Amino acid sequence: MLSDYSFSEIQTYVKKIGLPLFRGEQIFNAIYSAKTLEEISNLPKALKEIIADDYPTYKIMTKLVSRDGTQKFIVEFADKNIVECVLMKYKYGYTLCVSTQVGCRMGCKFCASTLNGLARNLTAGEILGQVLLINRELGGSEKNRLITNIVLMGSGEPLDNFDNVCKFIDLISANKGLNISQRNISLSTCGLVDKIDLLASKNYNISLTISLHATLDEKRKKVMPIANRYSIKEIVDACRRYYDKTGRRIYFEYTLIKGVNDSKEDVKRLSNILKGLNAHVNIIPLNEVKERDLKGTSRLEAYKFEDDLKEAKVSATVRRTMGEDIEGACGQLRNKIIREKSRKQ
Ligand code: SAH
Repeated sequence: MLSDYSFSEIQTYVKKIGLPLFRGEQIFNAIYSAKTLEEISNLPKALKEIIADDYPTYKIMTKLVSRDGTQKFIVEFADKNIVECVLMKYKYGYTLCVSTQVGCRMGCKFCASTLNGLARNLTAGEILGQVLLINRELGGSEKNRLITNIVLMGSGEPLDNFDNVCKFIDLISANKGLNISQRNISLSTCGLVDKIDLLASKNYNISLTISLHATLDEKRKKVMPIANRYSIKEIVDACRRYYDKTGRRIYFEYTLIKGVNDSKEDVKRLSNILKGLNAHVNIIPLNEVKERDLKGTSRLEAYKFEDDLKEAKVSATVRRTMGEDIEGACGQLRNKIIREKSRKQ
C-alpha cells in the first residue's frame, strides 16, 4: 500500500511505472491529505486505474464525541478489520492515540484489546493512515498539520510489531510528510526488554512509557502475563540503558486496581524500583471493562497515592480520565462494535 512508502519510495514507484516525478508528488500529497482515489482531481483516470490496487482505502467508520471533548474514531482497513484511535485536545494542541495492532496477544487482565487475541499487525501505512484520516477530519491536510503529538498507546503492543512501528516513526517524523517531532511521540509498552534495547539502538528521540501496574513480580504476573518472561528489575534496567542512550525521561503507567496494587507498601516499593532513574509515574484510575472483574481505586485514594509517591521523592501525577462515556479504554469500542455486528448476523 502506498502509505507504507516514504516520499522517495513513492518517487521510485512512479519511476518504475514510467511516470514523471511530479506524479509522485501529487500522489504523495493526496495520501497525506487523506483523499480517496476518487477525490484526487489532478490525476488522469487511466493513471488512477494503474495505482488503484496500491492506493489506501482505509476510512473512518465511526466517530464518537465525549462530553469532555475527547473523540474516539473507528478506522476500517481494506480487509474490514477495524481499530480505534482517540483524539484528545490539550492546551498545546491535539494528541492522537493510535493503535498498532488489530487486537493484542499480551493478555493483560484489565485490558479489553486483548480479549480476542491478536488478529494481525498493522502496517506502517495503516498506523500512519489513522493520523492522516483524523488530521483531515480536523480540517487539516498535507500542508496543514493539526495533530501535534502522537501516542502509540492504542490497541496492540507496539514492540510486538517492531519493524512496522519503526517505519511509522520514520514516516510520521519525516520532513516530507506531517513532520511531527519525535520529541512529541511517545511509545507505550508492557515491557518487552529485548525490544526496548533494540529501540534504544535506533537513536530516536521518542519517549518511552512502561505499563508497570505492579511493584512485585508475583503480583504483576497475575495481571500481566508478560511478567512471566521479564522481571520488573529487567525492565527497569532496560529503561536505564534507554535513558543512558537517549537522555529521554522514562514514563511509567500505573493503573490503580483496588486491593491489588494500591497499598502503602506499593508506594515504598515503587520508589525503590525507580530510585536514581529520571522517571515520572502517571497514575491512572482503572477504566473498568465489563468483561473483566477488576475494580478501580477511587479518585480520592488515587490522589493519596500520588501524594505518598511525591513524599517518597517520586515524580507522579494522577491522569485525567478522558472519554469514559465513549468506551475510552483500549479496545472497548471495537469489542462493542464486533459484538453488535455478530448479533446482527
Ligand atoms: N501494549 C502497550 C500499549 C497499549 S495499552 C502497553 O501495554 O503499554 C495502553 C495503556 O492503557 C497501557 O498502560 C495499559 O496498561 C492501559 N490500559 C489498558 N486497559 C486499561 C483499562 N481498562 N484501564 C486503565 N488503563 C488501561
